[in-house]
Amino acid sequence: MERYSEITNKNQREIVLLKGFPCAWGKCSFCDYILDNSTSKEEINEINFEVLEKISGKYKVLEVINSGSCFELPKETLEKIKEIVVEKKIEKLFLESHWCYKNKVKKMREFFGIPIIFKIGVESFDYEFRNEFLNKNAKFKTIEELKEYFDSPCMMVGIKGQTKEMIDKDIDIVINNFTHATINVFINNSSKLKRDDELVKWFIDKYNYLDQNPNIEVLYNNTDFGVGE
Ligand code: SF4
Repeated sequence: MERYSEITNKNQREIVLLKGFPCAWGKCSFCDYILDNSTSKEEINEINFEVLEKISGKYKVLEVINSGSCFELPKETLEKIKEIVVEKKIEKLFLESHWCYKNKVKKMREFFGIPIIFKIGVESFDYEFRNEFLNKNAKFKTIEELKEYFDSPCMMVGIKGQTKEMIDKDIDIVINNFTHATINVFINNSSKLKRDDELVKWFIDKYNYLDQNPNIEVLYNNTDFGVGE
């Protein structure tokens, strides 16, 4: 499992994939990343401290991810990140959270005291597809409501059951409402959902121009950020 990497094409930054406590929701129908979660605080901190040692601060920007939300990292790990932010003069952080922690986002911004791009797993702006089919439990009703808390949606494309119309709408919303977004092309995993190869091909043909957009990061493989397995 690779836990440290550098993103060198867009929004250059260091990235660490940390270990966290079990995802509070844990029921998204497409997810199998929660296998990386642990209930042992000691184990989590030991692994995380070792990974965090690798941060050099060379880009002044750091992204921290775990298989869940940043609120599922132990206090000791969060304090260690803060120490590193100060020590390595990090000026911007990327963090991620599920919608259920929306009321804690402000506190986390205050804790770090530097600009944070808060990512959220939206997957799709189609309410039913997101909450029923993908079982995301992110029940915001409007884009404005989402933007009160979060900066950058993570989207999913290429799942059997998703339509071209949904993807067109999603990309349109992302481009016109957010300064940063991530689009994940679905890769088959151990969940019951399946990739729609025809839909993925259509998406790549139609939207490959997004590769030139500095604010939208399209991940064609789960490991495109250089972390994971
Ligand atoms: S919130 Fe994230 S980690 Fe938790 S089940 Fe959903 S996709 Fe998986």
